[in-house]
Amino acid sequence: MSRTPKLFVVSGPSGVGKGTLVSLVREQRPDLGLTVSATTRQPRPGEVDGVSYHFLTNDDFDRRVEAGEFLEWANVHGNRYGTLASEVDRNLSAGKSVILEIDVQGALNVRKVFPDAVLVFIEPPSMEVLEQRLRGRETESEESLRLRLADAAGELELAPRYDERIVNDDLERAASELLRVLETHEMN
Ligand code: 5GP
Repeated sequence: MSRTPKLFVVSGPSGVGKGTLVSLVREQRPDLGLTVSATTRQPRPGEVDGVSYHFLTNDDFDRRVEAGEFLEWANVHGNRYGTLASEVDRNLSAGKSVILEIDVQGALNVRKVFPDAVLVFIEPPSMEVLEQRLRGRETESEESLRLRLADAAGELELAPRYDERIVNDDLERAASELLRVLETHEMN
């Protein structure tokens, strides 16, 4: 069974559970390539530089933008985040599919550069559930939480522009749907 390596882009509002979903999928698909994004936000407790993100200063980030190192970058919830083109190219040329977990602006920009990219939107069952999950995570200040919830409404409006939409009502179910989406597109 031959698979064509593909670039998948997974987006969805903060707190929707896309990180957990993608981790579950990676357990089933250890062949997927790993990419580490760059960000100017401060590390959270437990986050490791070069593993969770490349944590950059604003100046470093600017330099890399000017050097054309980013496949895409965007301002998300008050900080900058970007995908280094080298990380994606390295994996695709090694025959590995890649999943990028990036915000909606970044996703739509990736599609301009990579028209074959498959955009997958993860939706919450409702805004109420999203707020509960984000509060339960206890990673954000009240201000950051409010910003993320306000941004969520705008992000959900862009869902129709994605190739695939998955409702994260149940983690196991949503993960198997995402696995199926990967396989279907890799067969095309
Ligand atoms: P967090 O601060 O919770 O780690 O991430 C906040 C948001 O930034 C997430 O919704 C995530 O999708 C987005 N993000 C993470 N890495 C990238 C990236 O490389 N590019 C873009 N455009 N967004 C990213």
